[in-house]
Amino acid sequence: MLPSLPTLLSELVRLPSVNPMGRTDLPADILYEARVTAYLERHLRDLGADPRRQPVRPGRDNLIAVYDPPTPPPFTVVFEAHQDTVPVDAMTVDPFGATVEGGKLYGRGACDVKAGGAVMLAAFARLFKERPAGSARVILAFTVDEEHTFLGVQELVKQGLQADYAIVAEPTLLNIVRAHKGVVRWQVETAGRACHSSRPEQGVNAIYRMGRLLAGIADYADRLRAQPPDALLGPRTVSVGRITGGVSPNTVPDSCRIDVDRRLIPGETAAAAGDDLTAFLKAYPGVDFPFTCTQTHTACLPLGPELSGELVARLGAVIDAVAGKHEVHAVPYGTDASTIAGAGIPAVVFGPGDIAQAHTKDEWIDLAQLDPAAEILYRFARAR
Ligand SMILES: [Zn+2]
Repeated sequence: MLPSLPTLLSELVRLPSVNPMGRTDLPADILYEARVTAYLERHLRDLGADPRRQPVRPGRDNLIAVYDPPTPPPFTVVFEAHQDTVPVDAMTVDPFGATVEGGKLYGRGACDVKAGGAVMLAAFARLFKERPAGSARVILAFTVDEEHTFLGVQELVKQGLQADYAIVAEPTLLNIVRAHKGVVRWQVETAGRACHSSRPEQGVNAIYRMGRLLAGIADYADRLRAQPPDALLGPRTVSVGRITGGVSPNTVPDSCRIDVDRRLIPGETAAAAGDDLTAFLKAYPGVDFPFTCTQTHTACLPLGPELSGELVARLGAVIDAVAGKHEVHAVPYGTDASTIAGAGIPAVVFGPGDIAQAHTKDEWIDLAQLDPAAEILYRFARAR
């Protein structure tokens, strides 16, 4: 038997599944999704659901289970939730304590997105138990690595995911998110020639060179803002988030590196965004030296609303019936939904909890959101 939703959620929060997000200074015993995967797998087995592991990286598996209804399904829907969380530095609550106080459950992942995963599992379990006639086929997918490089959902899609709709769990306060920006990142490097800083004219200062590129990127950012914005999501943006270079105050630096973060709107590609900035910088006044750009890394594609009209209407009607009302939003943060939509499957984002509490030092979820969220997903899949 599946435990109650608050119990299920507290057990998930007590199982650390921290995504190191490229860091190497975190304790090994809280890292990665394996504990959560094993826990979910056990419950799915108990249901008789025959879950399948999809290896993504060593020790990091997506977990997939399918509900096949007793009668020909009107459609197939994917319920997708990620298993990982962001790190727990500087949290003011016990990150794995799952403390309940005043109707809130506290802990890392409580809101983003173990609550969303728990309600998907609960809705799936209920379908499995009740097997209502006329219900949809449901593919339940728990993915890895959403918080960093989206490897889990990329593997899920690569393995040939086929469905009519997808609902991706993120905290939306039981509203529907149908559009979000994408993000692509890369690094730009300048090289120079080191020498003693008492005779700087004998060297070439890589930081000065980077300074010119930075002036160019600041101008480029203004240019992006002046381009026509996306009607739902607003303008394209670029930001430089980190700079490193030099070894000491008395050495003319021979290298400098920056991290560029570019937010994409629907219709843009990562490669074109990178190429466009590079071309702009090459022609920028004062840039009379070579520089290099690392390969762009697409963390997440943009999600547009063009595929999901019917899904938004269908899900919205179910939310109204259960919760009384809903809103349809466009948001700046990325999710797994755009990768699924990239495979031609209409996808939206939906779940209990508020994104304002995600990744925070006292992350919590309002437990009153769990039952309605599970009911909405169940009724959506019951399809009548
Ligand atoms: Zn999330």
